[in-house]
Amino acid sequence: MNQDIENLLKLQEIDSKIQSINKELKKIPDKVNKVKESIKELSSTFALKEKRIKDLELEIRKKEKEADSLREKISDLRAKSYGNIKSNKEYQALLKEISDIQNKIDTIEEKALEDMEKLEELKSSLHESKEVFKEKEEKFKKELENIENSRKFLENEIEKLKSQKNEIKENVDKKIIEIYENLLIKKRGIAIAEIKNEVCQACRIRLRPQLYIEILSNPDKIYFCESCGRILYTKDEE
Ligand SMILES: [Zn+2]
Repeated sequence: MNQDIENLLKLQEIDSKIQSINKELKKIPDKVNKVKESIKELSSTFALKEKRIKDLELEIRKKEKEADSLREKISDLRAKSYGNIKSNKEYQALLKEISDIQNKIDTIEEKALEDMEKLEELKSSLHESKEVFKEKEEKFKKELENIENSRKFLENEIEKLKSQKNEIKENVDKKIIEIYENLLIKKRGIAIAEIKNEVCQACRIRLRPQLYIEILSNPDKIYFCESCGRILYTKDEE
């Protein structure tokens, strides 16, 4: 086989590998984003639970303050009325006022108690989800690490392949390299095509018999497929 063709085949093999590695590399930002999204979602779910607990704690404190200030109001009423009650009617009115306030206090405290129970439940569920959260977070971080490692590995592979390519290129005519590389871009990564049974294996079009005979009888010349334009080679013997 023509030495140039042999070298071009080696180049084509390397370029195909580079292309498939590049395809893998292109998927990486998406993969990273997906994992990062999951981490974000996870921590926002967790933060929401934490916020609910804080809100509830505030709510309980507010109710306790409310009850305290109502109790103060009762003490004030008692202190102000001490020695100032002039009739049974006034006394009854005072008792009624105090008992109304006391009812309010009872209602508030009942609600505060309910909130405290809810708070305990939330706290223990948060504790559980904190463990799950940590586990999942670890898992996601590991995933990111793996993605990063494979990115480095693939980039390193490409560097190796490129230097292999450069070595081969030194042994090929620059003009042929130029043609090859242009075809690589124009022909979706495949610049060189085998002829099998007189058919170009890239575009599946049968060669003109005249051209086929010419190719077989001039193994040192480079020919192009008249239909797809790729460089042709054949393993067929004349
Ligand atoms: Zn073709």
